[in-house]
Amino acid sequence: MAVLRVIFGDQLTDNLSALRDIDPDNDIVLMMEVLAECTHVPHHKQKIVLVLSAMRHFAEQLRGRGMNVDYVSLDDDQNTGDFTSEIRRAVTRHRPAGIVVTEPSEWRVSAMVERWESSIGLRVEVRDDDRFFATRERFNAWAQRRSAWRMEHFYREMRREHSVLMDGAQPTGGQWNFDHDNRKALPKDRLVPVRQRFSPDAITLAVIEVVQSRFARHFGRLDEFGWPVTRTEALAALADFVAHGLPSFGDYQDAMRLDAPFLFHSLVSPALNLGLLTPREVCAAAETAFDEGVAPLNAVEGFIRQVLGWREYVRGVYWQLMPEYASSNELQAVRKLPDFYWTGETQMQCVRTAIQSTERYAYAHHIQRLMVTGNFALLAGIAPKHIEQWYLAVYADAFEWVEMPNTLGMAIFADGGRMASKPYAASGAYINRMSDACSTCHYDVKQKSGPQACPFNYLYWAFLIRNRQTLSKNPRMAMPYRSLAAWSQERQAAVLAEAEAFLDGLVATS
Ligand SMILES: Cc1cc2nc3c(=O)[nH]c(=O)nc-3n(C[C@H](O)[C@H](O)[C@H](O)COP(=O)(O)OP(=O)(O)OC[C@H]3O[C@@H](n4cnc5c(N)ncnc54)[C@H](O)[C@@H]3O)c2cc1C
Ligand code: SF4
Repeated sequence: MAVLRVIFGDQLTDNLSALRDIDPDNDIVLMMEVLAECTHVPHHKQKIVLVLSAMRHFAEQLRGRGMNVDYVSLDDDQNTGDFTSEIRRAVTRHRPAGIVVTEPSEWRVSAMVERWESSIGLRVEVRDDDRFFATRERFNAWAQRRSAWRMEHFYREMRREHSVLMDGAQPTGGQWNFDHDNRKALPKDRLVPVRQRFSPDAITLAVIEVVQSRFARHFGRLDEFGWPVTRTEALAALADFVAHGLPSFGDYQDAMRLDAPFLFHSLVSPALNLGLLTPREVCAAAETAFDEGVAPLNAVEGFIRQVLGWREYVRGVYWQLMPEYASSNELQAVRKLPDFYWTGETQMQCVRTAIQSTERYAYAHHIQRLMVTGNFALLAGIAPKHIEQWYLAVYADAFEWVEMPNTLGMAIFADGGRMASKPYAASGAYINRMSDACSTCHYDVKQKSGPQACPFNYLYWAFLIRNRQTLSKNPRMAMPYRSLAAWSQERQAAVLAEAEAFLDGLVATS
């Protein structure tokens, strides 16, 4: 009897565990485009196109390998719109002996799959997702041994365990960390590479039409769609990055420039998160570039730290702490999300540029996410759920397992330090140092108060004052709290009032 092999939209990997022992003559591969997944947050139009187009291409590829694929498309008249009822329909169609699935990446979908066996009355085998360096159990074993988790410790253990960038027992070059070399601002005249983008083919164009008509009101533009939707394209994108971006990735990892949305970043996260690339091959490509003298060690280590370190670490944190993690709100932030997150209509140049890039490409690089839109949300005290749902909606690479810890843990410190040792709070001076945005901004980054003052300046101090009780005990926050100690009560009250007036003047998302 047939076995139903269910493949979710971010499981588009040739040797996925659910496909490994497939019997092509009997088994059915089931792939489902369902409305509930397109609308549970108002995903960027490009993100929906990316996922559906990559799924359709993957289905074609599996058919080319002789597999029997039952593909339920969004515009199928019979489509019931959610995974569980589509599974029921497929069971009626194929009468399988059982269901095999690779563990879903999100807690919400995983909980749904756990209910299938009892609600459908068939055996459901859930297999590990071994596309990551660390299984969930491996992270669990690491986490159980520690009272406080730090990415750096986990990362070093992963480097040793997987022999990545190691000379025997020692890190290549004798150093684990090159962060201090990787914080350069971009010189004005430094050229940045033009990056490879991919023109939509017939399959992608058909999906674009569906998305235009069914999700017209969702955020984002479609005219700049250029994401890789097949493994072949994803490999080309990786090769383009290694040749043109990686050599300077380390030096300018934290830099921002108004006219350069991609800088030296890899742009591989959408392909990685869909499974078109694996983290192992991405790290191996970077390590080979170092061995062949194509890229220096600070760049290669900096890149591998993101993939083998941060990406694996945030996944571990997510599975350790869900579902309670989703409602973290250590700083008791309650403000609504300002409307400019959706429209880009703000006079803050750095914020406007990050949001315009998001709208145009479904992409903003890490420092824009962390130190501009994230920093603003942190300083303004935006309610975690509001900002978290925004991040989940607007990026092509946004999947909850990686987005949520980055938002709640890294950007807005809602988890009280489970993920990161201190809040990434910064005034306008940081943005000015790392970007060219301030020179053409309506606001003056040097002014601390008054109508022309950069809002990040007074919001920063107001944030410290508001959260003194929670944050002043953190040793990594000692310096700003020492400065604050010299402020009179009147000065503190004035900064709080100015910040409140600015925030109250913003139009909130309805
Ligand atoms: C608030 C916030 C939300 C984020 N949401 C997402 C998200 O939904 N999906 C997502 O993949 N990343 C997310 N990130 C992490 C990071 O910003 C993106 O992975 C990165 O910008 C993707 O672009 P890139 O491929 O050019 O990355 P590069 O800068 O070239 O980095 C290389 C790769 O390292 C990995 N990586 C880098 N930083 C992180 C990180 N902090 N956590 C996990 N992986 C990392 C990614 O796979 C990335 O492709 C978020 C970060 C913040 C601060
Ligand atoms: S002045 Fe302030 S708001 Fe304007 S770009 Fe600089 S940091 Fe951003």
